[in-house]
Amino acid sequence: SLSERLSGVFDKLRGRGALNELEVRAAMREVRVALLEADVALPVVKDFVDRATERAVGADVLKSVTPGQQVVKIVNDCLVDTLGGENADIELNVAPPAVVMMVGLQGSGKTTTTAKLAKLLKDKRAKKVMMASLDVNRPAAQEQLKVLGEQVGVATLPIIAGQQPVDIAKRALQAAKLQGFDVLMLDTAGRLHVDQALMAEMKAVSEASQPAETLLVVDALTGQDAVNVAENFGREVPLTGVVLTRMDGDARGGAALSMRFITGKPIKFVGTGEKIDALEPFHPERAAGRILGMGDVVSLVERAAETLDVAEAEAMAAKLAKGKFDMTDMLAQFRQMKKMGGLGALAKMLPGMAKAQEAMASGKVNDKSIARLEAIILSMTPKERAKPDLLNARRKIRIANGSGVTVQEVNRLLKMHADMETAMKRLKKMGGLGALAGMFG
Ligand code: GDP
Ligand code: MG
Repeated sequence: SLSERLSGVFDKLRGRGALNELEVRAAMREVRVALLEADVALPVVKDFVDRATERAVGADVLKSVTPGQQVVKIVNDCLVDTLGGENADIELNVAPPAVVMMVGLQGSGKTTTTAKLAKLLKDKRAKKVMMASLDVNRPAAQEQLKVLGEQVGVATLPIIAGQQPVDIAKRALQAAKLQGFDVLMLDTAGRLHVDQALMAEMKAVSEASQPAETLLVVDALTGQDAVNVAENFGREVPLTGVVLTRMDGDARGGAALSMRFITGKPIKFVGTGEKIDALEPFHPERAAGRILGMGDVVSLVERAAETLDVAEAEAMAAKLAKGKFDMTDMLAQFRQMKKMGGLGALAKMLPGMAKAQEAMASGKVNDKSIARLEAIILSMTPKERAKPDLLNARRKIRIANGSGVTVQEVNRLLKMHADMETAMKRLKKMGGLGALAGMFG
């Protein structure tokens, strides 16, 4: 993955006491290949590598005591820049109702994201939201939004059969005005490919409803194609931002990196699952951290804080900050994961957890198997939990018998632990945890 490739490059750089320009340029070539392999668009890669190289071969960097670390920091900073710098929030500061128009190809996740965003605005921003579907192409598309509206407790515009998109938009605007809604979300129709008819329809709706936000919804899994879509829509409608969906899948990260550069518009949200609350504001620094293989610790801890009590989250943050991770910590992790709704979303945030994620996806790891993993850890003595190195063949057999599993399963758990421990150490080395300590203090 991009993350693995880059951390490979950086592991070589980081420990170096001295670096010369040739070495930096060689490392940047590796960065370039890693980005291209992750499906980042060529002009974006070129811009990125040029910028990073220019800064990295600067005299101050090469002469510094820790040139390797400086180069890593420069790449990180360039990633953050490429991803848009700071979190760009949705802008609704207009006379209500603020219209939010969602555009994108068919199947990109517009309807789902419309409902997710409506829920987020209602629950977290105390907005009174109405949704209307302008999708008259797909049978039952309007019905789909109505059902989602009922599910999340958001009003939808009553459906009138046979009405055309622009007329629906006007009627929705009128209704939202009269009924005092703060926000009107317009879910539009998509096509399988960008075509003129679709663009004409989007333009007409946009002119009739004067959106405060026009959000392009793109599927992160489509890689290079996402870039073409963004380019085309960007030319035709006045986009204000991008929502990347399916960031829970194994997207190679390329779409996120390309999007800002190609559209000139910020990524405002990312979709991280099929569930209706799987939508998160996009934070460039955190995403850069994720790409560099530091894991998205801040999001992780925030999620923990939302789900767990603060004391537990604090303890977890402290452990992570120390880079300490023994079997007892792993057991706590498993329990928290169960509580937070499965490994799925969390696993992606921690580097080294990719394996666990795969196992999860293939159905090899689930709540039941987590219970087995717990059983194995509980069969260890406190000493063994603190020092898994103690586990020789004899001890492994004892533990396997004690927990009713095979020795292979014990070995698999130990491997998983080793991977997670490595990830924690890397986190610590990257120094990305400074912020954590203060988070709850
Ligand atoms: P539309 O044609 O653009 O309106 O797309 P829909 O909203 O109907 O979504 C198409 C499919 O993608 C549905 O099955 C959604 O559940 C799924 N989907 C949407 N967003 C996400 C996401 O962020 N992650 C995942 N895994 N699935 C998503
Ligand atoms: Mg739809």
